[in-house]
Amino acid sequence: MHYTCPHCGAINRLAELNNNARCGRCKSALLASLPTELTDTSFARFLAKNDLPIVIDFWASWCGPCQAMAPVFQQVSSRMNQHARFAKVNTEHAPTISNQWGIRSIPTLIVVQHGQEIDRLSGALPPAALQQWIEQALKKTHS
Ligand SMILES: [Zn+2]
Repeated sequence: MHYTCPHCGAINRLAELNNNARCGRCKSALLASLPTELTDTSFARFLAKNDLPIVIDFWASWCGPCQAMAPVFQQVSSRMNQHARFAKVNTEHAPTISNQWGIRSIPTLIVVQHGQEIDRLSGALPPAALQQWIEQALKKTHS
């Protein structure tokens, strides 16, 4: 599978992803424990070159529910990092991407695989409900 390094952006080719996997270029651990921050420039490459589904949190600094959801999203991402990639898009810094994906309210979560939307959720959820929603969405993806 192809897996983009969360630290340097290099595309790694792996037989399987586990806790020992290291980036071929920068030697950092490949399993991200924190969501990757994406911008208008890094977004397309990150989506195109990852074989794992990607859960993207669209947010903004002025949005109270987004602030409340950030630690929840982070917690769920470190728990599920072998099954999906987790990314965040600050809609103020990435207006083009936010427009392209029709983000009308935040927080909005979108699950994407190979550039295609699998599922979408608007509004914040507590950790257990968020994890459950992501698990349901991942069942609709193909491995
Ligand atoms: Zn790297």
